[in-house]
Amino acid sequence: MPMRSGRHAPATRVVHAGLPGPEQGAPILPGPTFAGPYHLRGEPDSTPYGYGRYANPTWTALESAIAELEDGPVLTFASGMAAVSAVLLPSLGRGDVLVLPDECYGGVPALARERLAPAGVQLRSAGGGTDGLMAACAGATAVWVESPTNPGLDIVDIAAVATAAHAAGAELIVDGTLATPLLQQALALGADVVVCSGSKHLTGHSDLILGYVAVRDAARLDAVRAWRSSVGAVPGPFEAWLAHRSLATLDVRLDRQCANALTLAELLTGRDDVTDVRYPGLPSHPRHDLAAAQMHGRFGGMLGFDLGTERRAQAFLDACELVAEATSFGGVHSMAERRARWGLEAVGEGFIRFSAGVEDPGDLCADITAALDASRG
Ligand SMILES: *Cc1c(COP(=O)(O)O)cnc(C)c1O
Repeated sequence: MPMRSGRHAPATRVVHAGLPGPEQGAPILPGPTFAGPYHLRGEPDSTPYGYGRYANPTWTALESAIAELEDGPVLTFASGMAAVSAVLLPSLGRGDVLVLPDECYGGVPALARERLAPAGVQLRSAGGGTDGLMAACAGATAVWVESPTNPGLDIVDIAAVATAAHAAGAELIVDGTLATPLLQQALALGADVVVCSGSKHLTGHSDLILGYVAVRDAARLDAVRAWRSSVGAVPGPFEAWLAHRSLATLDVRLDRQCANALTLAELLTGRDDVTDVRYPGLPSHPRHDLAAAQMHGRFGGMLGFDLGTERRAQAFLDACELVAEATSFGGVHSMAERRARWGLEAVGEGFIRFSAGVEDPGDLCADITAALDASRG
């Protein structure tokens, strides 16, 4: 069953990606290989599998699966931040300029401030979404983009920023965690490097931490691989196997999560006690058309809305029966939090970041409606 991957829809590719051909009596998805050292007699080059910090067949299978979806070679990591570090730390040095957007995962600017700035890398903040990023490209070495962002749920025009970055001789790195390769193929849009936290939608069960790097040009992966081997930021075989197992349901999970998110966004928009409903799938979203084109008509499982006060937001979270109060997103269980509790972003005290799970849409709407009503107090 060799996969003629180009012929199949993404929903089919996630089911089959990275699986070995049919071998009589063998499992469809081989189990995890737990190994520190492997048998390695004589010439060490005779197998890629010599020691478990350098290579593992369970990573290899997962990496080939994700590579099929991203359409570029992939390396997996112990976490999303381990992947971010492997992209930024070994390749930027004194005199280089890294452009950071006005909104992205907070760990990225923190890493840049703590590790890159002291090493002489100039950090340049780009305000104002796509236009701001394009304007900041001149003289840059690398440009960082996240789209969709969270909790702001803004959409950046990846192809436009890629053109500006490349005209300036800069590399474009896209954090595609929210979208996953099923909703957005950043390499095809012009990115040189994609990083993704596998701890969110990609694996989707809120039970593991993982990350990966995908690149357009295989040579770019050399420095990333060398970094992974030397610092040892490697995924555990069991996590890699769970991720591969979870990948098969990515499309069906996303389908339900995107549909639930849109249903909830519409429900919230229709209420007079909720403001600032943010969801790229709403036609009223300022970049709805861009999102539709860039994300293949699905808009993700994350939305945001404002309940006005800290008291009401907390009362809402307490009153939800089906929604876990937690700080991640992308899992099959609906999750939400009052985002201002972290003090990291310019959001209102009553702003809720909501990650739609795969529950029945009627049950979810009833639960949210009841919690909104109860929280009015
Ligand atoms: C969670 C997240 C990360 C970091 O991933 P970890 O797996 O938690 O290290 C990076 N970028 C985005 C957008 C994220 O949501």
